Amino acid sequence: MARYTGPVCRLCRREGEKLFLKGDRCYSSKCAIESREGSPGVHSRFRGRVSEYKVQLREKQKVKRMYRLLEKQFRAVFHQADRLRGVTGENLLQLLESRLDNMVYRAGFASSRAEGRQIVGHGHILVNGKPVNIPSYQVKEGDVLTVRETSRGIGRINESMSAVEARRVPDWIELDRGTYTAKIRALPSREQLTHPMREQLIVELYSK
Ligand code: SF4
Repeated sequence: MARYTGPVCRLCRREGEKLFLKGDRCYSSKCAIESREGSPGVHSRFRGRVSEYKVQLREKQKVKRMYRLLEKQFRAVFHQADRLRGVTGENLLQLLESRLDNMVYRAGFASSRAEGRQIVGHGHILVNGKPVNIPSYQVKEGDVLTVRETSRGIGRINESMSAVEARRVPDWIELDRGTYTAKIRALPSREQLTHPMREQLIVELYSK
């Protein structure tokens, strides 16, 4: 699957905020957002007038980058959200949150969504006891994610589980570190997603 392989801190600096793309480093003083000012590039200070389109575009880019998707994948999720009942923007965020790679990150089995995608892709995760290696797999309320028994010695999974204290496992996930199991109590409501995201701007952008 195609993916962005460039420097990820640059993406945060472009959006002017932390997108938490690099694991533990994001929670330390080494974070580029805390140590460097402005957008990347020589002419970063001279970006000119901010149009409505630009604001919408930047919001879409931010959310897309946070969940580590490419344009085609992100747009496909948006169309899926648009076909569902309810508020399209909220549907979009819920579909993004329900991705297995995101849930693996949220549960603390991975230190970032990119690592979550790798861990899923390499077959280290079981969903309700069955191996699932599709990062976009939609997790449902009540599902149980488990690290495969033969994968429990992997250093980065254990390091991430130890470091998860810093970012906290969200309330909608019940993590049992002893059995490497995470139960999805419920899918998160909009209010529970605390990272600032203005999903309505994305809906407006794609509705043009
Ligand atoms: Fe973004 Fe993390 Fe890099 Fe900070 S350390 S700029 S939050 S990817």
